[in-house]
Amino acid sequence: MEQRVRFNTELIKTYDIAGPRYTSYPTAVQFMEGFDAEAYRRFTATSNSELIPKPLSLYIHLPFCKSLCYYCGCMKKVTRHTHQADQYLELLEREIEMQGQLFDHDREVVQLHFGGGTPTFHDDEQLSRLVNCLGEHFSLSGDDSREFSIEVDPRTVGNERLAHLASMGFNRISLGIQDIEPKVQQAVNRVQDPEATLDMIEASRELGFNSVSVDLIYGLPLQTAESFSKTIDTVVSAKPNRLAVYNYAHLPHIFRAQRMIDAKDIPSPETKLQLMELTIDKLTSAGYVYIGMDHFALPDDELTIAQREGGLQRNFQGYSTRRECDLVGLGVSAIGKVGDCYAQNIKDIPTWQSVVAEGQLPIWRGVKLNTEDRLRRRVIESIMCHGEVRFHEFESDFALDFHDHFALELGNLAQLEKDGLIEMGDDEFRATPEGRLLLRAIAMIFDEYMQTPESKPKFSRVI
Ligand code: SF4
Repeated sequence: MEQRVRFNTELIKTYDIAGPRYTSYPTAVQFMEGFDAEAYRRFTATSNSELIPKPLSLYIHLPFCKSLCYYCGCMKKVTRHTHQADQYLELLEREIEMQGQLFDHDREVVQLHFGGGTPTFHDDEQLSRLVNCLGEHFSLSGDDSREFSIEVDPRTVGNERLAHLASMGFNRISLGIQDIEPKVQQAVNRVQDPEATLDMIEASRELGFNSVSVDLIYGLPLQTAESFSKTIDTVVSAKPNRLAVYNYAHLPHIFRAQRMIDAKDIPSPETKLQLMELTIDKLTSAGYVYIGMDHFALPDDELTIAQREGGLQRNFQGYSTRRECDLVGLGVSAIGKVGDCYAQNIKDIPTWQSVVAEGQLPIWRGVKLNTEDRLRRRVIESIMCHGEVRFHEFESDFALDFHDHFALELGNLAQLEKDGLIEMGDDEFRATPEGRLLLRAIAMIFDEYMQTPESKPKFSRVI
């Protein structure tokens, strides 16, 4: 259901607590190293033997970048030595072959995402070879409805490369812009020409890409309400189908790159609130629908349609359609979701490489969901994707009485109801327009692993 969203400074300040982004449940903090390649194999075998095996979604992690953006918190390797990347690609092909053997070949890949790092760090020939390898070991859909996307760094791609990406089968791109203000770009070491970037949006439409998604970040050094307004206005003038506007979390003790940012240049919490408010105002006034946590989409975009029709999901790329798929993660640190498990690959490139070179699946850790996890995953996903929970749906699917089972949680929701984050009914609760900006605070109530106080400080805050 599409819902309105309303900015409420006081509520946001009150609920500015550290919490997970719920790209999975249980979250990665609960993944255990005892979950190994053998355990993963068993889940893949079970997934093949389902009455109607699910289609597949593939995520390919390409971690190399040519230069370092100082705000970066991604798993990446900055290098100008392309031979390092060549070796990585060779081994990635080995992993694709091993993973391909685990899934029945008639399970169609309807969703594919190349993420990074900078996937377009690699040249056209390398990317083509990678797609061909995927095509050899998996059954890639050729249907127009497929969602094959790639993150494009506008500093590494011109119109010719875009055309090549289209010819390889990609039909959506995601562009990192972050901010168009030169001073901000310099402060984060990511200088790119905004005009050339916006021209790419136009060019991608002419080339037949179905969807263009743009990433922006608020809270970067030297940003002001005025400068960020200009960024939003400029980007909106090119009408990307989707926008993700992330909050910059300055955590230099965790992310080394962020130590390059002068903390005194970071906007104050008050300014960040202003930036968040103007983002919501401007995008909703321009006709974008607020999907949830940082994401906006045009009313005719698949994300908006999936939200309306109940097919939206949270995964490691944020919000996504194709909830019905099993997700296969390929490459260093990639996370997959197959049946009732999550599995993550080894996180450092040398170890990942040596394990793959030995012919072993590079699974590092994971988690097998029990019935309680599956139930809570559904509840949390319903909150994060649809801003509501209808009790009878869970009662029939999980054979329980929602009020009895979640007596503690419903009691805890009373304060959120009093504060105006939710409206409670007999058979459902729903986020209010103000509460829609605080979905994770609502979801956290149902997170069994957050019910122990020591788990809380591991996550970033809302603002
Ligand atoms: S933000 Fe993207 S392009 Fe920049 S260093 Fe990080 S992964 Fe690379």
